[in-house]
Amino acid sequence: MRPLTPEILKSLEKIVGPGHLTDQETDLQCYGYDATVYHGRPEAVIFPGSAEEISAVLRLANEHRFPVVPRGAGSGMSGGSVPVQGGVVLVLNRLKRIKKIDRENFLAVVEPGVVNRDLQQAVEALGLFYPPDPASMNFSTLGGNVAECAGGARAVKYGVTRDYVLGLTAVLPTGEIMKTGVQTVKGVVGYDLTRLLVGSEGTLAVITEIILKLLPKPEARRPALAFFNQLDRAAQAVVEILHGGILPSTLEFLDQPSIQAVEDYLHLGLPREAEALLLIEVDGDREGVERQSRRVVEACERLGASGTRLARTEAEAEDLWQARRAVSPALFRLRPNKINEDIAVPRAQIPEAIRRFQEIARRFDLLIVSFGHAGDGNIHVNVMYDEKQEGQQVRARQAVEEIFKAVLALGGTLSGEHGIGLAKAAYLSWELDPVNLAVMKKIKDLLDPNGILNPGKIFPS
Ligand SMILES: Cc1cc2nc3c(=O)[nH]c(=O)nc-3n(C[C@H](O)[C@H](O)[C@H](O)COP(=O)(O)OP(=O)(O)OC[C@H]3O[C@@H](n4cnc5c(N)ncnc54)[C@H](O)[C@@H]3O)c2cc1C
Repeated sequence: MRPLTPEILKSLEKIVGPGHLTDQETDLQCYGYDATVYHGRPEAVIFPGSAEEISAVLRLANEHRFPVVPRGAGSGMSGGSVPVQGGVVLVLNRLKRIKKIDRENFLAVVEPGVVNRDLQQAVEALGLFYPPDPASMNFSTLGGNVAECAGGARAVKYGVTRDYVLGLTAVLPTGEIMKTGVQTVKGVVGYDLTRLLVGSEGTLAVITEIILKLLPKPEARRPALAFFNQLDRAAQAVVEILHGGILPSTLEFLDQPSIQAVEDYLHLGLPREAEALLLIEVDGDREGVERQSRRVVEACERLGASGTRLARTEAEAEDLWQARRAVSPALFRLRPNKINEDIAVPRAQIPEAIRRFQEIARRFDLLIVSFGHAGDGNIHVNVMYDEKQEGQQVRARQAVEEIFKAVLALGGTLSGEHGIGLAKAAYLSWELDPVNLAVMKKIKDLLDPNGILNPGKIFPS
């Protein structure tokens, strides 16, 4: 990779127009971060206004061999938009139009800079529903969601971002503009390049337009909380609910350290002795929701829940959700630093995974707190430490490696939703077999022969 010269900067500004490029030091510093601890200093930040401009930028990058790093809101949790090799950060937030909401065909056409919540609100106003709901939905962009294949609490019933992307317009690293996919529910013409790009973490193309599938908006929703003094009982309750023919829209859990942290933080009256808390929400038509939520509570009580709470009103529903939403901020009261991993294990392995994490915590003399999506096995494992205490940071990193080993031994995966980026590149070969890894690398080399698009990500350097 080569540094940007004043001539290249001038050419870039000519492409994106005056006012849409900055090389001010404060901007270079700010656009060097995402939501992780990683940082890289770009040489310029640009704000293109169209796919054609992005195409011209990428052609220039190939000519002069400088890196281009796509960026949405910078809320990524794996370092994906951090410009580790300098070059240009290409910010997509000028492309923020919801171009079409097609009520009859249940689809939306959006630009990548649209914030997830803005689309949710726009479609819900028309009686439609866009289910993927990452906890960052108030600020993360749909382009970033597609690039990371973001998931959320509703994944247990509705799936993740990839399940809603019907088609894309994308600019390839060499500058060609490509359309993929369909505007229909079905479509099997040729290889599924849409799926290839979803979750490609800004390494295979810059996404400039997204066709999304929508659903009818459920009429009602109702959450319930259940506390269990034994982790296994909570896991059995999950199985029982699902086998009972109920597919909740969310099925979240907190382990004991998370429950205690939230209780100390908000004083909601949560039982500190509980080993697990389940937050189970059902949605659908009003009568169905009424019936199903009662059955959920009955199943939990039958399996020995020490307490249950069922929301009767929207305000009560929000109160119940408070416990789940407060976990992340509450954890910082326990220790000043944390490493947040987003592994996933087969659902039935959750109790065993938690037990192994606790054993690792004891072995490394650290606090490990787990919470997340009991419905889909995606657990947020937080290794808590204090960087000022000698040796804790090193032990925390070692504990993370042990967690990865335990997860893979249980048939799980290293990332359920945050992606590989920089954070997990070194561990890619722990999960992928050499042939799989080689095919991925060949695809990357084919589409990006000069390696200018988001270099240093996914593949171990
Ligand atoms: C508080 C918090 C909660 C979170 N909760 C969740 C959660 O519940 N579920 C979840 O999945 N994630 C979650 N995340 C992670 C993050 O919000 C998601 O990964 C999100 O999809 C990133 O979107 P972004 O717009 O911020 O993208 P960025 O962080 O800017 O970029 C992410 C990656 O996408 C690439 N990219 C961005 N836009 C494009 C584009 N148009 N074309 C090609 N590549 C592009 C970037 O190069 C980078 O590799 C959370 C983050 C925070 C801070």
